[in-house]
Amino acid sequence: MKTLWPGATIGVLGGGQLGRMMALAARRMGYRIIVLDPSPRCPTAQVSDGVVVGALDDRDAARHLARQVDVITLDTEHVPADVLDELDKIAPVRPGPTVLRTIQDRQVQKQFLDGLGLPQAMWAPSSDRIQLADALAKVGRPAILKVRRAGYDGKGQVRIEADGDPFSQLEKLRGEPAVAEELVPFKREISVILARGLAGDLQIYPIAENVHRRHILHTTRAPAPMTTEGKRSAEEIAVTVAEALGHVGVIAVEMFELPSGKLLVNEIAPRTHNSGHYTYGACVTSQFEQHVRAICGLPLGDPRLMTGAVMVNLIGDLWRSGPPTWQPVLARPEARLHLYGKDAPAPGRKMGHVLLLDDDTDRALATADQLIADLSATPSSSA
Ligand code: AMP
Repeated sequence: MKTLWPGATIGVLGGGQLGRMMALAARRMGYRIIVLDPSPRCPTAQVSDGVVVGALDDRDAARHLARQVDVITLDTEHVPADVLDELDKIAPVRPGPTVLRTIQDRQVQKQFLDGLGLPQAMWAPSSDRIQLADALAKVGRPAILKVRRAGYDGKGQVRIEADGDPFSQLEKLRGEPAVAEELVPFKREISVILARGLAGDLQIYPIAENVHRRHILHTTRAPAPMTTEGKRSAEEIAVTVAEALGHVGVIAVEMFELPSGKLLVNEIAPRTHNSGHYTYGACVTSQFEQHVRAICGLPLGDPRLMTGAVMVNLIGDLWRSGPPTWQPVLARPEARLHLYGKDAPAPGRKMGHVLLLDDDTDRALATADQLIADLSATPSSSA
């Protein structure tokens, strides 16, 4: 097990904001970054040492990247696992292809969780009308239909109402294999982010409390106010997942908390996570540095929280009439603005976020909503 010291080159598959923030942390530490992405101007390429232009399933381009790097990691879980198998023979892929194969298909992920005896929403395969009818008999209505592959931020999801026509909802998924889930009456959503090193060592971040709007993460608050018992069971679930996967790197386990306090796993993301962005301002070691440490075989850093924090996402809708005026954010000493360098704002697209560092997280949540209202109201900075 070779340690990759600063000076080594990390290859990143996918050039989104997660890759960008990891690249910023990695380059600060002295690593080199080469990214594979269809766009030479993608968020990660803007802060990298090199870019290989190609689709994530372009084997020639991926091999070309692999030959130039010491280790390969991912910005997204949607890289075909077969491509990862091939790359793993050239340079180690961390997390490994088996982890991705288990996670990238919702049905396989759910079977994996069932196999571990971990709690999750009732679910059933629902790829055609016969399966859907059986699934609804099991999970009840309302329910949510989710495509098995490549869905994110509510994309590839439709809701089946108690009295609607379920088959017309199924048709909206255009024949994509899907699963049905019961609609969970959760009290709140939380996520546990942890890192697992090459030797199996673990470091767990303070638990994050998440609010979604239109299926997209809106705010994260850390630490989530929780009982010691609730925190312990959430951490236990996440550790069980990471160890069963043999994961290497940062991993996020999203959970629903029911009014009774019971936790259900919603989704596993085998990578750094939007609900962990707060770590770069609030923790001793950010999730991005931690991921670099894990995949390079370094000792893991301290995940300790130094201040309470709230993160609020900046979604493309705020760019309706051009880039917002950032004055309301930049005027606040506790606020840190992070923009991802995406040049095509679109409704629902994550363009950046603001981090509010404040031990009074109730106040920070109120500030976050005020900022979003101010940014929506202010005239565009290009006007
Ligand atoms: P997902 O992409 O599956 O993480 O879904 C995005 C968001 O949709 C979640 O964070 C929840 O807010 C909501 N959601 C997804 N699945 C369910 C469910 N079974 N019951 C209630 N809400 C859900």
